[in-house]
Amino acid sequence: MKKILILGGTAEAVYLAGALKEQTDLSVIYSLAGRTRSPNLPDCDLRRGGFGGATGLVRYLQQNEIVAVMDATHPYAAQMAENARLATTETSLAHYKFLRPAWPEPDDGLWIHASSSKEAAERIHDNFKRVFLSGGLNDVADFSNLTDVWFLIRSIEEPEAPIPLGNFSHIKARGPFNEADERALLRDPKIDALVSKNSGGSATIAKLHAAKSLSIPVIMIDRPPIVGGVVFDDPLALLEQLRRDI
Ligand code: NAP
Repeated sequence: MKKILILGGTAEAVYLAGALKEQTDLSVIYSLAGRTRSPNLPDCDLRRGGFGGATGLVRYLQQNEIVAVMDATHPYAAQMAENARLATTETSLAHYKFLRPAWPEPDDGLWIHASSSKEAAERIHDNFKRVFLSGGLNDVADFSNLTDVWFLIRSIEEPEAPIPLGNFSHIKARGPFNEADERALLRDPKIDALVSKNSGGSATIAKLHAAKSLSIPVIMIDRPPIVGGVVFDDPLALLEQLRRDI
């Protein structure tokens, strides 16, 4: 049976793994970085943890006789995307990339663009004092020099290490979120800026609607460039293509 490796971690990756297992005679292996303690999982073979860079991924692909790689990681998983590009080039394997459509920028002028979380911190400096960091715990250290800012931090998991910020409140919550709750979350602690990644999808978009309704600026960390693979933003079109190719 032909084997496909899915680099997972998104709702669409879980869907694609399930659909491929049901609708094709492919053997599906779903791979996770392994950092989320209770991830959503598809009903197929699973593996967890890094491969050891592009070289490790090449080894894994060869040892497991994989015929195609589908990168359906988060749009900001730039290292994994680059490793997938390098490894599939090296092994001449088919490489599909699922990328959720980005949220479009509204024409209200309230988005402030940043190319990284470090640049988002520069945008906050001297401009905002009560900031909602909505993108989890990964990048909070980039905001640690902003000692006169109070942060609200939301993450799916409890922090495993102390949060490296002076003034903050942390909440643990998993989407989907609704607009009324998001509005209260922004309004009650008098948030004056929201920092977000452009994740796309419906589960976490309510924070943007809430910010817009309260005229709160959004510091949007833009997506990293797409580095390789045949790119799809529609899971059904990707499934269709795979059925034709493999
Ligand atoms: P990354 O920086 O691209 O990946 C770092 C390393 O983790 C990779 O080199 C790889 O290790 C391992 N890895 C990543 N995805 C893997 C997978 N599916 N299977 C096996 N190993 C995997 O990506 P990231 O660390 O996952 O996340 C990068 C950014 O995306 C973060 O800023 C995070 O906030 C964001 N993100 C957000 C969400 C969300 O739902 N909002 C979800 C995921 C990520 P090896 O090199 O050893 O193979």
